[in-house]
Amino acid sequence: MVKELTRLNQLSGSSRHRQRKGLQRLQHHLQTSALAEISSLPTKTVAIGNAGLACGLSLKDITSVLEKIETVEDLIHDADHKPSYVVRLVPDKPFVLVEHCCEKSAKYAVQCLTGFVFQLNNGTQLPWYPAFVSCSSPTTVINPPTATRMPPDLVLLPDVITEAEEDRWTQFADDILANMTEGPERSTGKPASTVLKNRTTFHYGYHFQYGTNDVDLQKPIQPIPDMFSNVLQRFIKDDHLSVVPDQLTVNVYDPGQGIPLHVDTHSVFEDEICAVSLGSSVIMDFVSSSKHLPVVLPPRSAMIMSGESRYAWKHGIAPRTTDNLPDGETSWRRSRRISFTFRKVRNGPCRCMYTEYCDSQKGQVSKTEVNATLPNGPSTNTEICSPDVEEKFVHEVYEQIAPHFSETRHKAWPKIASFVSDLLPGSVLLDIGCGNGKYLGSSGGKLIEIGCDRSSNLVGICRERGFEVLVADILSLPYRNSCCDAVLCIAVIHHMSSEERRVQALSEIARVLADGGLALLYVWSIEQNRDQKKSSYLKSKKELKEPSGESSSLIGDATCSLPVHVNRTAFQSPDVLVPWHLKSKQEVASSSCKDGDKVFHRYYHVFREGELRQCCNRVSGVQVIEEYYDEGNWCVVLRKV
Ligand SMILES: [Zn+2]
Ligand SMILES: [Zn+2]
Repeated sequence: MVKELTRLNQLSGSSRHRQRKGLQRLQHHLQTSALAEISSLPTKTVAIGNAGLACGLSLKDITSVLEKIETVEDLIHDADHKPSYVVRLVPDKPFVLVEHCCEKSAKYAVQCLTGFVFQLNNGTQLPWYPAFVSCSSPTTVINPPTATRMPPDLVLLPDVITEAEEDRWTQFADDILANMTEGPERSTGKPASTVLKNRTTFHYGYHFQYGTNDVDLQKPIQPIPDMFSNVLQRFIKDDHLSVVPDQLTVNVYDPGQGIPLHVDTHSVFEDEICAVSLGSSVIMDFVSSSKHLPVVLPPRSAMIMSGESRYAWKHGIAPRTTDNLPDGETSWRRSRRISFTFRKVRNGPCRCMYTEYCDSQKGQVSKTEVNATLPNGPSTNTEICSPDVEEKFVHEVYEQIAPHFSETRHKAWPKIASFVSDLLPGSVLLDIGCGNGKYLGSSGGKLIEIGCDRSSNLVGICRERGFEVLVADILSLPYRNSCCDAVLCIAVIHHMSSEERRVQALSEIARVLADGGLALLYVWSIEQNRDQKKSSYLKSKKELKEPSGESSSLIGDATCSLPVHVNRTAFQSPDVLVPWHLKSKQEVASSSCKDGDKVFHRYYHVFREGELRQCCNRVSGVQVIEEYYDEGNWCVVLRKV
């Protein structure tokens, strides 16, 4: 290419004449378009005559030539200089405008292109006529009016910061890059930074962990520097933002770098996400289930994602060196781009309406907490985002499977029945998590039996059967202190997804028990095959025609997910999702289908030997008086002392 271009630069007399004519025509077309005029001095922008859409050339034809020049320029110029340009074609015009990053690059292009002849596929020869021009309007790439379809709730604010501010912000980033240390902030006073495969980032306010896509709320780092507060206050004043951000991530993208398509984790950041761009324009792709909308982020602009665009669209930047607008008229070679993303860290779960994409509401757990209270094995060290898991995988599921669940719950377990029959006549018995009321009404009027359950549908079934029941959460029972002589709590505490919550449930049981009162607790055991004897749960495997094997699939994300237990097999993990197969004749909304059955997943924490007792020991005012294993369950009898 270089050789070819050099050869063409040796112009003969007649070609010099043609060159003059060509430039005169270019001058004429530029004047009529009022976009630019030829400059006698070198500028950054080059107009090329005989190289436009009206000549039958496409954007791709032009960029393919420019790319070859830039590739050579990359090699001959110093390593720090990454040449970049913006190409703009104008409909029905026989020229193209190319704005280079600097005069040096523009000069190199003019030198290479003078005398260059483009050959069309049909054999037509098009000699190009390049000239420096001064433009009447800046050539910053913006979204053309014809292509401004944007995702709902996305706001793009052009020129939100001045060029002077852009310079200061760029200098700020350069200073940090110059003396950056990797890893979270320690005592250095430098911001936490990460060199990712595709870009360099640093953080203020909170360190964003790329492994878990989370921030550590307990460990705030250096706050967002004051130099950004003017601009942020301006956004608030102009109603672009409703809350002052407290987390800043700075991303530095060299040409060719990008960021994979993603949704910023709902549970980690609030609704509004504001990204200010500096340097190169770039196309950010927004992708929903059925749509793909490319959006240009020009320098000094702010993009504010909220609502649907923030929660339900993925966004990302393709790792490439050249962007093309879909209109076929604008293309540019990227230079370095710096983005300043301002976000507000969220406290508590996300309650957005885009539940399908919501980690808070889907049980796609991304937060991990270290459980400091359980000394045993590593498998219990990861606890999950409790209230969300219980909401999605316990409360909602029981609500939906209530009628079917009730059909399958008739037979009282002998040891539980005998606990009830041993109570003194006239005792008040409270069944917490009473389900369909299997243990209510069994005393034939000997006891005062009341019950509660978290599922209003199950409570409804109890009411139809004439029981004294109400909807209640075990973590906060609506009963007076010491009002019950006995409590049943069967198959409830294993639905609590952290040890703190299990202990809180036990504390509530202790609170409502009268002095000397007894509570019988049943939880599912991780050991289903004890003393060479299979539990009834494992034994009933054959009738259910379940596939055998270990927990294989996972529901959740890469950092923390819940294994899906295979019914009627041994447990592989203490925290699992256990499928509930609902026969397809049931008219119930479901999460997934398999062989016509609707499958729901219930969350369980299955207990190790001694674990329930240890939890009880953390509750004051009660004493474990009995502990036993019964058909795959760990059972404890508590006495209030
Ligand atoms: Zn993002
Ligand atoms: Zn959400």
